[in-house]
Amino acid sequence: MQSIYDYQLDELKEKVKPAFRAKQIYNWIYKKYVTSYEEMKNIPKDLKEQLNENFSLDILKIIKKEQSSDGSIKYLFELQDGHTIETVLLLMRNKKISEDGNIERSEQYTVCISTQVGCKVGCTFCLTAKGGFVRNLTAGEIVAQIVQLKRDNEIAENKSLNIVYMGMGEPLDNYDNLIQAIKIFSNEEGLCIATKRQTISTSGISTKIKKLGDEDLGIQLAISLHAVDDQLRTELIPMNKAYNIASIIEAVKNFPVDVRKKVMFEYLVIKDKNDDLKSAEKLVKMLSGIKAKVNLIYFNPYPGTSYQRPTRENMVRFQQYLISKGLMCTIRESKGLDISAACGQLKEKEANGNS
Ligand code: SAH
Ligand code: SF4
Repeated sequence: MQSIYDYQLDELKEKVKPAFRAKQIYNWIYKKYVTSYEEMKNIPKDLKEQLNENFSLDILKIIKKEQSSDGSIKYLFELQDGHTIETVLLLMRNKKISEDGNIERSEQYTVCISTQVGCKVGCTFCLTAKGGFVRNLTAGEIVAQIVQLKRDNEIAENKSLNIVYMGMGEPLDNYDNLIQAIKIFSNEEGLCIATKRQTISTSGISTKIKKLGDEDLGIQLAISLHAVDDQLRTELIPMNKAYNIASIIEAVKNFPVDVRKKVMFEYLVIKDKNDDLKSAEKLVKMLSGIKAKVNLIYFNPYPGTSYQRPTRENMVRFQQYLISKGLMCTIRESKGLDISAACGQLKEKEANGNS
């Protein structure tokens, strides 16, 4: 059965008559986060019945939830066919001193969502890869993750949030459903999450980066680069054989980037693999001419991996080098480390039964 979350507003207008009802339904699901058609007070009974028969509404079940000391919350959802995916709600607390000396605090939500059950790319450092690929998420399953989180955390309908497509799966490998979800998210009658607040993280399918760029959606791009030479990158991301570094850089150079924005390059740092200054030097050269910022990520070890977490000294040394060359560079403090930070790790814990 199709889900009500699968449709853009205009498509829903084609499905339910009279068309103005579509907007009311959108309002109930995206602003009030209802879990049943019964709750839609201004919708006539016969239409509610029709909706019930044709479109599923409650498509994600929360089966596990872990709260970290830093405020982030990781969810394990069960899909209707029994498979599971992860979604993480991150809370960024900002402190700013205003001109009159007052401390201004603000909170910003970012949601990290999944696009597939498993992943085909097979990165050797990633737990999601270990389970292989199961299936693409539908657009509705991508969208419902945000609705569930907003509902469960009672986040006001007009509170803006950011989306990062950095959970399980390779977003560009589920291209059509991804684009559909992006459009549903950004609709002003719905969740109203502007495309500039949405960041797609990709392991680098260059042909799809080009296609995405051509759509000119105003979306933000993050590239999981992780290595500066093809040999190491292929070891880490086997798909690099088909889409090598040069092809990715070329695709990024042609990607439309907002004047005030940059393309993010994610660099997973693994001890003794890519944490040396030579790599940093190469990275600077590689990114010259690109409006880039770099995000260094600590490798997060898990049982059975031979890769190791880098030292803090090497992380900082790498960062300082990039900054000294004028590149913007942040270190991703493993948010939610105590709740198994990286993608795939909550799911793995559940499978092993050791929560
Ligand atoms: N498939 C896409 C999007 C999500 S991957 C991509 O690869 O870009 C999820 C994120 O988790 C990526 O940023 C990846 O670098 C990170 N990740 C995966 N395994 C990790 C690990 N063991 N430690 C730290 N980060 C990890
Ligand atoms: Fe897939 Fe991303 Fe994990 Fe690589 S890092 S296996 S692309 S989810």
